[in-house]
Amino acid sequence: MLITLSPNTPPTTRAAVLAAALERGFQVQSMDNGRGGSVIGVAGSLGHDLLELPGVESVQTVHKPYMLASREARSTSVVMVGDVAIGAGTPVVMAGPCSIESEAAQIAIALDVKRAGATILRGGAFKPRSSPYSFQGMGEDGLRALATARQASGLPVVTEVMEPEQVDLVAEYTDMLQIGSRNMANFPLLKRVGRSNVPVLLKRGFAATQEEFLMSAEYIMAGGNPDVVLCERGIRAFDSAFRFTLDLNVVPSLRELTHLPVMVDPSHGTGRRSLVGRMAMAGIAAGADGLMLEVHPDPDNALSDGYQTITPDELAHICRRGAAVHDALRGFDEQDELASIATFDTLDEGAEVALSA
Ligand code: PEP
Ligand code: MN
Repeated sequence: MLITLSPNTPPTTRAAVLAAALERGFQVQSMDNGRGGSVIGVAGSLGHDLLELPGVESVQTVHKPYMLASREARSTSVVMVGDVAIGAGTPVVMAGPCSIESEAAQIAIALDVKRAGATILRGGAFKPRSSPYSFQGMGEDGLRALATARQASGLPVVTEVMEPEQVDLVAEYTDMLQIGSRNMANFPLLKRVGRSNVPVLLKRGFAATQEEFLMSAEYIMAGGNPDVVLCERGIRAFDSAFRFTLDLNVVPSLRELTHLPVMVDPSHGTGRRSLVGRMAMAGIAAGADGLMLEVHPDPDNALSDGYQTITPDELAHICRRGAAVHDALRGFDEQDELASIATFDTLDEGAEVALSA
């Protein structure tokens, strides 16, 4: 259940709720609710007499297995990565190579993607490769290169962490921890990043349902880390013409189900460079809070995922046109906008007669 506390709730109320939950052996976690108060998620039912306690605004019996991530828990979340706000209304672009290749290369690409309009730099140091014989990433040297590129460009950085034991090390060098598609259901890893205070980019498993995706986010939040950003990166479908299929249904659908920001990765989501630009536009049109894009100055010679990697010039084009698409759709979901669209459908009597004739 979710218990919402108003801004000036006396500490005795919070203590009473926590004590009641602990006494019954229920897991409990609290976070701010985006309106000055807080919300306490209790994995069990404590009864509605809690409403009598001073400061308790509401008690909701949420049956969803992802109660903290649910839309009901709080107002829309904005996740800060360095000084970049994800979910605040302006789409954020994270860009950089699939793998960090050297310090010099990472600095050069950082400056290139910044010039093109990206505001977060990416690059993998620990790579989850399908073949054990493929390049596995530069490891800690890669993290150091990423940190140097952050300093040189001023861009905050995101990089993948693959094992619970690596979390402290990776967190030392990065502004955001990426959990890759293959690790979306690595529960020990989710629990471990849940105990860190670094924001997390959680990529959807390519065979995961929307609900499984949200439950993985819940694992992180239940551990005490509320700063989770979801990323749709393509699912595996039947057509071998595509490495993965970007499932854009989940973008507006997740918007209904969760307060967490949602990003789209059209690089992995298509697996084909020529499709990335259009699907990036589609991601923005679907309502994404931002894009993750693989970018390299010489994609054909990138050490990984070159076939789906675009150039800095293509990135600049996507940033420019993406902003225009976003502007064109401003207010699309709002009620007055819907009302004005509805007037198109109101036929006058003559037209109705003509149509039925
Ligand atoms: C990546 O971002 O380079 C990556 C490996 O992504 P995913 O986990 O979505 O395959
Ligand atoms: Mn990649």
